Amino acid sequence: MILNNRFASSETATSARATDEELSIIPAWSVVLAIVGFVAVQYLFHVVMPHHKHELLPMRLFMGYTYGTAIASYILLIGYVSRDVRRRNMSSGLWMLIVILMPGGIGAVVYFLLRQPVLSRCAHCSTEIPSTVHFCPQCQFQLAPVCGRCFRGVQITDVYCTQCGHDLAQDQAPARLRAYSD
Ligand SMILES: [Zn+2]
Ligand SMILES: [Zn+2]
Repeated sequence: MILNNRFASSETATSARATDEELSIIPAWSVVLAIVGFVAVQYLFHVVMPHHKHELLPMRLFMGYTYGTAIASYILLIGYVSRDVRRRNMSSGLWMLIVILMPGGIGAVVYFLLRQPVLSRCAHCSTEIPSTVHFCPQCQFQLAPVCGRCFRGVQITDVYCTQCGHDLAQDQAPARLRAYSD
């Protein structure tokens, strides 16, 4: 991703874009299946299930909506995991089985606790690296802005390091933000 170094991107814009990117990996088949699942639950509750005279309509609407939403969310979650597992280089067959078969979404919780960091490629030498690292292990290319004194990660908009108080302007911003400007 290429950002310019005019410090224009605000924190909220960055996180909104990250959420959009996360949601955009949900495959189309799981969106379609989720809608089908929701409609099927409505059909089950309002057509297939026997209607008793003493039964309240609002209760049935509520139950149908709740179960329909739960099933649709679960299908979307499975779709998300099926894509997410690949960009983290994890065993997709194994994790899909765990997420689908463990009851009540426990498999998904286990997945989110144990998943590996997203892999990306070094812009300089194309080595596959976790997105959490600050420098490429093969060519020392700077992948994220870091403090010039303690080398901990800093935000692109920070003026002082939040860990050691170092004045980041002294690091010569163009060098610090090399990964973002070329
Ligand atoms: Zn590299
Ligand atoms: Zn520092």
